[in-house]
Amino acid sequence: MSMNRRRFLHQTGTTTALAMVTAGLRPLAWSDLESARANAKRLQASLEKLSEFGRPSGGTFADGVSRVAYSDADLAGRQYLMGLMKVAGLAPRIDAAGNILGRREGSDASLPPIVFGSHIDSVPNGGNFDGDLGSLAAIEAIHVLQEQGLRTRHALELVVWANEEGVAYGRLLCGSRAAAGRLVEGELDESWEGVTKRDAIRKIGGAPERIEGARRGPFHGYLELHIEQGGTLAKDAVPIGIVEGIVATDRYEVVIRGVANHAGTTTMADRQDAFLAASHLAIAVNQLVRAEAGRQVGTIGRLNVTPNVPNVIPGLVRHSLELRDLSSAKIARLGEAIKTKARAIAESTRTEIEITQTSHDDSALATEAVQTAIEGATRRLQLASRRMPSAAVHDAQIMSRLGPMGMIFVPSVGGISHSPKELTSWEDCANGANVLLQSIVALDSADLG
Ligand SMILES: [Zn+2]
Repeated sequence: MSMNRRRFLHQTGTTTALAMVTAGLRPLAWSDLESARANAKRLQASLEKLSEFGRPSGGTFADGVSRVAYSDADLAGRQYLMGLMKVAGLAPRIDAAGNILGRREGSDASLPPIVFGSHIDSVPNGGNFDGDLGSLAAIEAIHVLQEQGLRTRHALELVVWANEEGVAYGRLLCGSRAAAGRLVEGELDESWEGVTKRDAIRKIGGAPERIEGARRGPFHGYLELHIEQGGTLAKDAVPIGIVEGIVATDRYEVVIRGVANHAGTTTMADRQDAFLAASHLAIAVNQLVRAEAGRQVGTIGRLNVTPNVPNVIPGLVRHSLELRDLSSAKIARLGEAIKTKARAIAESTRTEIEITQTSHDDSALATEAVQTAIEGATRRLQLASRRMPSAAVHDAQIMSRLGPMGMIFVPSVGGISHSPKELTSWEDCANGANVLLQSIVALDSADLG
């Protein structure tokens, strides 16, 4: 803060006003907290302004953002955000991992904080709502309480996680993993575009040499508002989703060996075509995953054909396979069924199919009592809601390992995300912000066990 600014604050008596609020001079009724509402116009204005950091040059809001973590655009966006936090009465600080934190004291210093927030880094050519909405709605929640002089019993801790998307350095959820002590051995020495992660964290104000300092203490509950990134809420016109958990993911590497041969002289009967086998397997995955009820999904997203030239029968195919569901047992069972089917396909196509599991990410279930608190908030706000799984990963899944967790979803128009076309109506944004605010209020009085 400059000297001028400090003098200004002093002269206008802002510090005195803040001190009065902090001292809780205004006695509060529970109903004051319950009637608090987000300022929809202010939330929209801040989302529109944040979108300018990383906007393609000459573009508009509709052109989305490229605000990859640790980039200059990310840095500028973070500066803007910290400015908003100050206006909302917070003193922002940056932890050792580069996460932005802001704490508002509660009336009972013996209680652990309620933590909430999201992220503002994006994928290249991403949208204006993924992470941004949850971060700005979190600031808005604090801003409203500050304006109205309302104090919760628990301290409130706002957090904007660093590098959620993992575009830089190829690992997701960097800030929240650091907060949970779950960084991978040697991760800080990894390099991306010629810069180590250590230096990237330093660039955004972190202190990698004491990364352990980013470890989180206990909290009462963690909340995150996020866009659905899928199309189910919008399709059924349900304004609020209450997340039951973040799905488990199994990843496999599939190698199919056939025989590369002349595409002209080899008869159809004599071929051992690795790509043909892969095609059969792709259809089998789709059929097996769809054969039972539920929200499970299966995807072959990457496929490499060798030698990948027009006049040679493919001799080798390597492809990915990914299965997701809230139930780890279900996707394990599907994985086995796919392997069984692959043996039959290998035989009929005279190829070898090798399927190796490369990773298992456990599901992260939301805490029942937090889901109930969110549900109570939606009822109070007279908003319809639905319980649902999250098929995308979020920092909340890391937080669920440390304490009670809940997530609030709002509709994504057309289910589009990670694209400039990502869109959530301003009304749905405001609804989400109100549910976040009222869920904080509900958690403040809830016993989460
Ligand atoms: Zn996100």
